[in-house]
Amino acid sequence: MTDPAPVRLRPEVAALAPYRQGRAAADGGFKLSSNENPFPPLPEVVEAVTAAAAFNRYPDASATALRERLALRHGVEVEGVHVAAGSVALLAQLIAAAAGPGDEVLYSWRSFEAYPGLVAVAGATSVAVPNSRDGAHDVDAMLAAVTERTRVVLVCTPNNPTGPVVAQAEFDRLLAGLPSDVLVLLDEAYREFATGAGGADGDAVVIRQREGLQRNVVVLRTFSKAWGLAGLRIGYALGDPRVLDGARATAVPLSVTDQAQVAALVSLDHEAQLLERVAHLAARRDDVWQALTEQGWRVPRPWGNFVWLATGAATDAAADVFASAGITARAFPGEGLRVTIAEQESVENLLRAAREVGGMLQSSSSGPRIS
Ligand SMILES: *Cc1c(COP(=O)(O)O)cnc(C)c1O
Repeated sequence: MTDPAPVRLRPEVAALAPYRQGRAAADGGFKLSSNENPFPPLPEVVEAVTAAAAFNRYPDASATALRERLALRHGVEVEGVHVAAGSVALLAQLIAAAAGPGDEVLYSWRSFEAYPGLVAVAGATSVAVPNSRDGAHDVDAMLAAVTERTRVVLVCTPNNPTGPVVAQAEFDRLLAGLPSDVLVLLDEAYREFATGAGGADGDAVVIRQREGLQRNVVVLRTFSKAWGLAGLRIGYALGDPRVLDGARATAVPLSVTDQAQVAALVSLDHEAQLLERVAHLAARRDDVWQALTEQGWRVPRPWGNFVWLATGAATDAAADVFASAGITARAFPGEGLRVTIAEQESVENLLRAAREVGGMLQSSSSGPRIS
């Protein structure tokens, strides 16, 4: 036991582990533990951020220019867009807006590691529904777990860290089975990598909302992954203005810098170029997935910028093998390893480590290498 804090903390907060970042890369190695984009920022982005150097001034708290731009892009009113310092901030704001002590927040698990902590900080209770065997959301089990205390349902597609999307039909079935006053957060952090997957599509939600449907859904987007702005912290939500008012009310004011806002605007100007990078990463991911499958891994088809190796009890040992190959991966002890698809130069090491881990699993009794 560590010493207790010298002041009385909320017990649910005292019990929480602090957020742990993906480990840094070893010298000359690859950091494949945080699903970051390996491409350097566009020169135009660097230029715009440098030009926005009035650090002595507060930023535009309502991110007006960016929200107007996003409103146009998505065909919604400006009040139907809310910008925050990354989609983790959006999740925190919206969970806090809708759920408190005695309320339940439902999500598939394993999923994004930030979810349980954000729910606990809001004072609400997590209801974690196990993924189906292939790492997907089990919509029937999720619906069966709904109670009258359910206030928020988190849907992560593609799911971090296991990789599958939530099929559009499954998402529609989930919505149809939920009370219409339950907030549904559609976390699309990796949507740009999932073209052609048939996953639930936030753009379709936005279109239905124009007809007054699915107004309980808020779509979450981030510039961190496909757009390569993780270090600047910026993301946005699309949804009913009155629901987004809840996020605006719980937000820590002035968290989104002007530098982040201009970087997002310039990135939107260069969308085609950035999506080309995404296409390269997606193709690389598909190649890695195929190679892993040929090695004998049963890996769920990945739709984000990462692959999931269900290494089970051997996860720590597997992470060590990857580390020896110069790769820092994200280990979920007892469950599996998530490895980001990044630099082409990292792929050979990734596959070599995976082969070694595969051999290790086969020759031990630590369990089958299945998803
Ligand atoms: C990376 C990630 C986010 C958020 O990232 P931000 O940098 O806060 O925008 C949200 N959800 C999932 C599932 C993620 O993997």
